[in-house]
Amino acid sequence: QYLTRITDHQHLNAFTEVYADEARQRADELDARRLADPASIGRLHGMVIGIKDVLSYAGHGLRAGSHILDGFEAQFTATAVERLLAAGAIIIGRQNCDEFAMGSANETSAFGPVRNAANPDRVPGGSSGGSAVAVQAGLCLASIGSDTGGSVRQPAAFCGVVGLKPTYGRISRWGLIAYASSFDCIGPIANDAYDAALLLEVMAGPDAFDNTVSQRSVDSYSTATLPDRPLRIAYLADGVDSEGVAPAIRQATEAAIERLRSQGHRVEPVSLSLLKHLLPTYYILTTAEASSNLSRFDGVRYGHRTQAPVADLVAMYKQSRTEGFGPEVRRRILLGTFALSASYYDAYYTKAQQVRRLVRDETDRIFADYDLLLMPTTPTTAFRLGEENDDPVAAYLADIFTVQANVTGYPAISVPNGTDLEGLPIGLQLLAPPFQEGLLVATANALE
Ligand code: GLN
Repeated sequence: QYLTRITDHQHLNAFTEVYADEARQRADELDARRLADPASIGRLHGMVIGIKDVLSYAGHGLRAGSHILDGFEAQFTATAVERLLAAGAIIIGRQNCDEFAMGSANETSAFGPVRNAANPDRVPGGSSGGSAVAVQAGLCLASIGSDTGGSVRQPAAFCGVVGLKPTYGRISRWGLIAYASSFDCIGPIANDAYDAALLLEVMAGPDAFDNTVSQRSVDSYSTATLPDRPLRIAYLADGVDSEGVAPAIRQATEAAIERLRSQGHRVEPVSLSLLKHLLPTYYILTTAEASSNLSRFDGVRYGHRTQAPVADLVAMYKQSRTEGFGPEVRRRILLGTFALSASYYDAYYTKAQQVRRLVRDETDRIFADYDLLLMPTTPTTAFRLGEENDDPVAAYLADIFTVQANVTGYPAISVPNGTDLEGLPIGLQLLAPPFQEGLLVATANALE
């Protein structure tokens, strides 16, 4: 069924490769196993999942939306993917995304833009755009994306599905192509919070291959329930009364607040004094980390090497990287190396690290009084295709509500919250203190 739907929806460009024969064969094997020994089947038995093209899967291609990895095949499997397979999942293919997960519209992909299934003239969001559309259009049951500054939650919001970014370190990053290592999180995109919780449960937990992973045991997120008392929920005042937020999104957010109040919860406005510093902090630190992480793509170890005649090794590096990387990736490497350069390091990189700590302190002060922090996932609904291409700064501003969870490392979920007058999906975001994913899931269920 999913393979047929994928064929019927090729214009969406959600998948960069579909593992049709392999998926069929695996389904047959899983059927045989279930018949032979019903007790042996895993928690995700037969669940059809797509993975963003930044997750390693041994023996399969891996491109990160980039031509610099042309011809590359993964040598090992990401821990998260390994655990999905061990639980009986079927991996149906890899999904289109922004180049090296840098973008908010899936338009920086070397493999072309992805289209939003709600309206093909609109983008799906990014960077996990293919992953969100695949769930939206029913091309797989769930997807696994990555979220460095919103890349699971923002496309989930634009496509009307659920996106969960866990606490930093909850899921091993082993086998995830690094964008900004101190921000990157793997996260599920699904039709509902229950599916997302189940996938998180399977993927999360200690892993010897990632020394930043948390050693905490994994809760049963899929069965989490609300505490036996009303919740104390803060909402970001700027999310409902700022001019920069589309009227339909303000109204939908207010309606969700009223819904929670009518269920007996206490919902009160808060402001974040550091709000205007979030994006500069995020973009300084992530480009700095990216410039270092992406230095390994040198034309020697992976993928594309220039065929042009070059004088020496350094010229070969430069030419291969110039040919292999797209404009957004090159822009970010330049920004990052600038922020890390000797004369500007303290002014930008050190300063941004200090602000990062202040953001966490301010967020912690909110969580001293409240269980959750609520806001829209995005200030607008899905952009028009091509709308963001010429103005990178405008594109960066659209990440205003999603980056706080990554700057702090705290978990957040985006759930569908109606549509605007054009029928474009709206997302509502909840943030929680570290390792409170169960509370996010239970609250998301209460909102459904
Ligand atoms: N839009 C943000 C960026 O371009 C987030 C990307 C992400 O989370 N990978 O950096």
